[in-house]
Amino acid sequence: MVRRARRINRELAEVYPYAHPELDFRNPFELLVATVLSAQTTDLRVNQTTPALFAAYPTPEDMAAAVPEEMEEIIRPTGFFRAKTKSLLGLSAALRDDFGGEVPGRLKDLVKLPGVGRKTANVVLGNAFGVPGITVDTHFGRLVRRWKWTDEEDPVKVEAVVAGIFPKSEWTMLSHRVVFHGRRICHARKPACGACPIAPLCPSYGEGETDPEKARKLLKYEMGGYPGQRLSPPADYPGKPAPALGAG
Ligand code: SF4
Repeated sequence: MVRRARRINRELAEVYPYAHPELDFRNPFELLVATVLSAQTTDLRVNQTTPALFAAYPTPEDMAAAVPEEMEEIIRPTGFFRAKTKSLLGLSAALRDDFGGEVPGRLKDLVKLPGVGRKTANVVLGNAFGVPGITVDTHFGRLVRRWKWTDEEDPVKVEAVVAGIFPKSEWTMLSHRVVFHGRRICHARKPACGACPIAPLCPSYGEGETDPEKARKLLKYEMGGYPGQRLSPPADYPGKPAPALGAG
């Protein structure tokens, strides 16, 4: 299983050499806020919302002093906007009061912040601080179970199993590759098995569409000509940037 898992990772690295977080951010604070907003919505929707949010509140101090109703209006498109406003106000106040207005770069500090769980902390550590982290979101959990790396449903247990299979240096990129694959090919309801480059390594081949022609039609994003989720993608990203809110 371990050998096969590592081969899957190598294969994914070839398919998605440009895998990256799909949230737009310019600093750790923006990534932390964007990750909190990404609960129960798409990264695209978050990316369409954060430019106005960070224009209004560029720092934790600014955000902590926000008028809640004004912030709710800005983040309304991401859903659960009242709860998310509450989280962001608490989070930015804690950054201001306990961490000198800076996002801390340690897991044990990050998870103390209101509304920040292990998944969010690992996203921030891996992508804003270069500290290896495995991010177990819904895509990651689904795919590693399809690949029989584990049967665990609990994200913390999944993280521990996967951490035992791969060296730390692979953790962050592995997380991006798996999520890319989950979003683009190995979908929750209809995986495009017939168009999947890792089909020969996958114990769940056949769970989705195996006819190559029909499977290709299920592909999304750059493979089907659709944009990725970022409005400001990294320079090596082969897809088109996503449209701004209201533009399409
Ligand atoms: S073969 Fe099917 S189930 Fe397996 S990774 Fe590919 S799309 Fe997912």
